[in-house]
Amino acid sequence: MAEFDLIDRIRSRAPARADVVLGIGDDAAVLQLPAGRQLVVCTDALNAGVHFPHDTAATDIGWKALAVNLSDLAAMGAEPAWCTLSLSLPDPGEAWLDGFLDGFLELAALHRVSLVGGDTTCGPLAVGVTVHGFVEPGRALLRSGARPGEDIWVSGTLGDAAGALALLGHADLAPAEEGAAPAPGAAEGDPAGILATLRPRLDRPTPRVALGRTLQGTASAALDLSDGLLADLGHLCRASGVGAEVALDALPASEALHAAFAAQQRHLLQATGGDDYELCFTAPPAMAERIGAAGSAAGVALTRIGRTIPGSTATAFTVDGRQWQPPRSGYMHFAG
Ligand code: ADP
Ligand code: MG
Repeated sequence: MAEFDLIDRIRSRAPARADVVLGIGDDAAVLQLPAGRQLVVCTDALNAGVHFPHDTAATDIGWKALAVNLSDLAAMGAEPAWCTLSLSLPDPGEAWLDGFLDGFLELAALHRVSLVGGDTTCGPLAVGVTVHGFVEPGRALLRSGARPGEDIWVSGTLGDAAGALALLGHADLAPAEEGAAPAPGAAEGDPAGILATLRPRLDRPTPRVALGRTLQGTASAALDLSDGLLADLGHLCRASGVGAEVALDALPASEALHAAFAAQQRHLLQATGGDDYELCFTAPPAMAERIGAAGSAAGVALTRIGRTIPGSTATAFTVDGRQWQPPRSGYMHFAG
């Protein structure tokens, strides 16, 4: 397919919201902002072999490319509205594009997000998405609002995506101790079944958009977990000027992760594995009841994993009350 056939194919499948004055087809989109809202914008790119294994299905790449961006909006407490899509394709086949759009537009429809423009080029497989959302003025959830003495919470379970990468043997993508990738531990049940449970958590993360919205006015600070809890919580601590204490034993883990990995490996995956796309947030202890209600309303389990302390940098992890030293902090590009 030529560039314009690709764009036509995308345009014919992308429904437009009423606030899209002009969508795909001109030099730029024209969008009607709602009165009295602030615009929240974020961009995230996915590269083959870095952000997803090369064998990932086109439909899952489409889903994930949008999901990781919606996750950033969720962490801001914003309501998603519009997105643009930059596609670099080595071999623009119809089947691949249709599969990609299946996943991308399925998630877009779930959140009423309109694809309003983009760019299409020939090159190594890479997908860049920009998402626009709205927030009530001054109500965005920031990384900088935490104070000492607050609870630290996470949504869902941690470590599943990193566990899938480890089971797939992607030591290059998964967190690893010096020279040794975490191998499956005391695995009960069949490894194929466990991977079938964990792999969708890697390929089809669930952006916690509804949770982010309900945490407005309740959470003091928030961010989404993309690079691993240790690294991401460190960002929140630095931005807020607090320290953090986290009990690794308290981190929520799926049954599949428990079945596939012994405690030590599980802790490593949960603390330093990336791609969770869960929300991590802080709140004064008095907010615990409201947070429980927020989790119920959003349909996601919330777990208190630790507390903020005076300080400004490190997260102190404990296992059984004893200090735990991380072999590495999380995924970092250009880290060599
Ligand atoms: P220009 O040359 O003016 O930048 P393009 O030919 O790149 O325009 O794109 C034509 C139209 O198609 C624009 O509205 C653009 O936003 C849209 N478009 C191009 N690629 C994509 C894509 N991958 N997804 C959505 N819209 C796209
Ligand atoms: Mg133009």
